[in-house]
Amino acid sequence: MGSSEDLAMEKKRVVVIGGGVAGSLAARTLQNYADVYLIDAKDYFEITWASLRSMVEPSFATRSLISHAEYLPNAHIIMTAAVDLTDNEVMTAEGRIVAYDYLVIATGHMDDGPCTKTEKLSYYQAEHEKIKSSNSILIVGGGPTGVELAGEIAVDFPDKKVTLVHRGSRLLEFIGKKAGKKALDWLVSKNVEVILGQSVNLNDTSDGVYQTSAGETIKADCHFLCVGKQISSTWITKTILGESVDVHGKLMVDANLRVKGRKNVFGIGDITDIAELKQGYLAQQHALIAAKNVKLLILGGNENKLATYKPASSALAIVSLGRREGVAQISCITTIGRLPGKIKSGDLFVGRTRKQLGLSSDVK
Ligand SMILES: Cc1cc2nc3c(=O)[nH]c(=O)nc-3n(C[C@H](O)[C@H](O)[C@H](O)COP(=O)(O)OP(=O)(O)OC[C@H]3O[C@@H](n4cnc5c(N)ncnc54)[C@H](O)[C@@H]3O)c2cc1C
Repeated sequence: MGSSEDLAMEKKRVVVIGGGVAGSLAARTLQNYADVYLIDAKDYFEITWASLRSMVEPSFATRSLISHAEYLPNAHIIMTAAVDLTDNEVMTAEGRIVAYDYLVIATGHMDDGPCTKTEKLSYYQAEHEKIKSSNSILIVGGGPTGVELAGEIAVDFPDKKVTLVHRGSRLLEFIGKKAGKKALDWLVSKNVEVILGQSVNLNDTSDGVYQTSAGETIKADCHFLCVGKQISSTWITKTILGESVDVHGKLMVDANLRVKGRKNVFGIGDITDIAELKQGYLAQQHALIAAKNVKLLILGGNENKLATYKPASSALAIVSLGRREGVAQISCITTIGRLPGKIKSGDLFVGRTRKQLGLSSDVK
């Protein structure tokens, strides 16, 4: 027989939509306090920032891809996309209706890749074979994904000819100019050819010959498209929360991380309109605050006691450059080399992220 507090909590149902960085941690934190349902388009959580290492070392993915069932033994997992919602129910793509008392929306970015962990492991194996069997590789996109992939290939396969084409005038536009310039110099020092201010029409290629928007020709045995994924909020605009999505597709939340105007719906992670750099460690902080607030409300706590989230006032980001180096921006300081590499690039925070989800650092 549980305490009256336990019983009050057991009755409430919390639905978390999106099992990425934010949603996985929110569901994990709440699973013993409520009847938790996680709705995610995939059957696994992927540590995003480890994904490029898995392209050059597919076995790395055995730790960075985590089945939802592994860290959510006490929650219900529904593998499908959420497509609509009402004041107390979520509708899924498969026509299922899931009732909620509290809702946490964490749909960050839509991943159009494999939906199961097994398929994703095979995908990395195939991408690895593609890299190994190519002498020349074209990377399209100079944001964190393109730069990290170029770094991984340049370090692990120094004999490959790597060309990176980026539409913008500098690399890593999400952080400061100095970081972009340092990353550029590092890539060039590793013999990566970087072409800025141009794009590549991937629909117009033949026999490994690619044309850039400026009419340049690039020969490559294969290519990787590394452009940022879209925010997954279009589905919300068609629901009762449509007016809570701003013109940039961001879900508007208040200081307690509740969707504006809603008492029992929270928004966390990259999908929110919080004015700060979109980073996973911040999405994790959102998750912990939202979970704390859901617990308080379940217990009938005073609304004045809801925890508030203070947006990060300065930029903190590390982009890995192969296995040992990285480029970091910490507030207005930018640094490159072994020090940021020591923080991120070795294990890519995989052990730490696994532990946050209550798992061992390594796969047993
Ligand atoms: C290359 C790269 C390196 C990075 N490095 C770092 C780093 O070192 N440190 C750091 O802090 N951050 C880093 N980031 C940023 C970090 O990955 C993001 O900030 C983080 O993933 C955001 O988490 P999220 O939970 O909001 O969204 P996501 O992680 O994008 O998760 C969204 C989830 O929602 C699901 N979903 C989407 N739509 C629906 C729907 N309609 N129904 C059901 N499920 C849905 C998706 O399948 C996915 O599981 C990096 C990003 C990239 C691309």
